[in-house]
Amino acid sequence: MPVGTAGTVKAVPQDVLETLGAEIILGNTYHLYLRPGHELIRRMGGLHKFISWPRAMLTDSGGFQVFSLSALRKVTDEGVRFRSHLDGSSHFFTPEHSMDVQIALGADIAMAFDECTEYPADRNRAQESLRLTMAWARRSLDHFKAHREEVPWYGQPDRVPQVPILEPGNDAANFSSSGRTQSLFGIVQGGTYKDLRRESAERLVEMDFDGYAIGGLSVGEPREMTQEMIAEVLPLLPAGKPRYLMGVGYPDEIEQYARMGVDMMDCVLPTRAARHGLLFTSEGRLNIKARRYAEDETPPDPACCCMVCRRYSRAYLRHLMQCGEALSGTLNTIHNLAYYLGVMQRVRQSLHPEGDPVLANF
Ligand SMILES: [Zn+2]
Repeated sequence: MPVGTAGTVKAVPQDVLETLGAEIILGNTYHLYLRPGHELIRRMGGLHKFISWPRAMLTDSGGFQVFSLSALRKVTDEGVRFRSHLDGSSHFFTPEHSMDVQIALGADIAMAFDECTEYPADRNRAQESLRLTMAWARRSLDHFKAHREEVPWYGQPDRVPQVPILEPGNDAANFSSSGRTQSLFGIVQGGTYKDLRRESAERLVEMDFDGYAIGGLSVGEPREMTQEMIAEVLPLLPAGKPRYLMGVGYPDEIEQYARMGVDMMDCVLPTRAARHGLLFTSEGRLNIKARRYAEDETPPDPACCCMVCRRYSRAYLRHLMQCGEALSGTLNTIHNLAYYLGVMQRVRQSLHPEGDPVLANF
């Protein structure tokens, strides 16, 4: 899932995302809550309509950004008090408030409010953090169930009725149509302790969420440990519901985890790296700022057939970057997203040569 922090996958217009084949994008609750505000987005008909995105969306709970961006956090059982990284204003997030904000935003998938346990965390710290996350999962679910019909597009035939962009036969726009509501996913935490991870997964499955995420990984731990935790948790999560690994990763990682059984992943890497001139290609990583590309007429990735590689040279992309041109971020990001989405397309194809059974339902 390309990450669309503040209602935009930075530098890339929505129609281009569609052309690239992005079926779902992410929005960040923390950023949208601060600017322009969830009540404004509710009045605008929800996030899909506001940003004109007829396909699926997911919002995170806001927790991760509260913990990583804001200053002066104070965590209690009730919730988290924090200061905005923008203007220092004071805010209080509880599981209930996170649900209210996410329901106002109206993405197809909302996430339970959790505490992302840092790495390294000793066992006592991981256990205490998990206790909080499990209590918040219960409160998130109860509040969500009581208020899910308040989503701005409830009862409407389409979330974005005036933008019929999808191909004939691809009915993804109706995914959340009339009478349907958002889905809520629970988040497995537990640090790097297998028994805590198992306990977390089992308790969430008992609560019966619409899907399950594995959080708190790819936060600095060695990659073998990431794999171990995923391998421990995946078999405990129902295969018939989406399993989402949060915040990963490099192209080879997303391929590996998808083959292990992960259905969804998100990462800022392809978009953020692109804006810094790092391109992912079939020949490995390429730093487009490097002097050796100054007169290189080949496309960024000769094996890629994205709209950037079909048209532009490495020399031109380097020039745009050198001059700080706005187009630089756009072109670099389009290629990286095409590369990432291409990796996932190949994985899906090799897992289901006869066609993806999930996408076939849309
Ligand atoms: Zn390309």
